[in-house]
Amino acid sequence: MANAIFEPNPIPTLAIKDSDRVFPVHRIYCVGRNYADHAIEMGHDPNKELPFFFQKNPDNLLTGGRDFPYPPGTNNVHHEIELAVALHKGGIDIAVESALDCVFGYGVALDMTRRDLQGQAKKAGRPWEVGKAFEHSAPCTYLVPAAEIGHPEHGDIWLKVNGEVRQQGDLNQMIWKIPEMIGYLSAFFELKPGDVILSGTPAGVGPVQRGDQLEGYVENVATLKLAVV
Ligand code: MN
Repeated sequence: MANAIFEPNPIPTLAIKDSDRVFPVHRIYCVGRNYADHAIEMGHDPNKELPFFFQKNPDNLLTGGRDFPYPPGTNNVHHEIELAVALHKGGIDIAVESALDCVFGYGVALDMTRRDLQGQAKKAGRPWEVGKAFEHSAPCTYLVPAAEIGHPEHGDIWLKVNGEVRQQGDLNQMIWKIPEMIGYLSAFFELKPGDVILSGTPAGVGPVQRGDQLEGYVENVATLKLAVV
């Protein structure tokens, strides 16, 4: 970009399992309260709501198993283990029936959350970015192509902290399924190749501390390991 007044920031990418090629990330959409038991633990009725989404910034990704630096401005950072859904096709008003055609593959991600700041924002009716869209707030593994593993509809999802299971669920507990989320999002946004959807977290969210070792797992997809520093 010869006429740019400074060097543009690089486009964030995700690695692809067993490949030298990479997945360039466009946007990160995150669904809220998509597992009933997590909605209940956060004080909500899981039966009454349409899905809702917030975004993280693509450059919030933390890849390659790098350490998660405990972020500033908070005393209560929570882990949320999630299946990441990576799109290689987009569109508007995508039919639920064909939505999985948009999916390139899957990864294992954490939606790291400054819960205290998110709580203050909720209470004040303010946006969630300060709680959700901060540096390194989206650790993610490499992607595994759907061509290799298909489209997981069930399977274990869990997170261990220092070897102890904190979150545990099954992908089949998602209230809004992946094709439904793609269809719903595409009624409000133009989805693009490179978009990533974090598909929600099962119950058991809780705080992390410096020195913790996190290990997240989604059956048939990947294991995410990192340290909080
Ligand atoms: Mn989440």
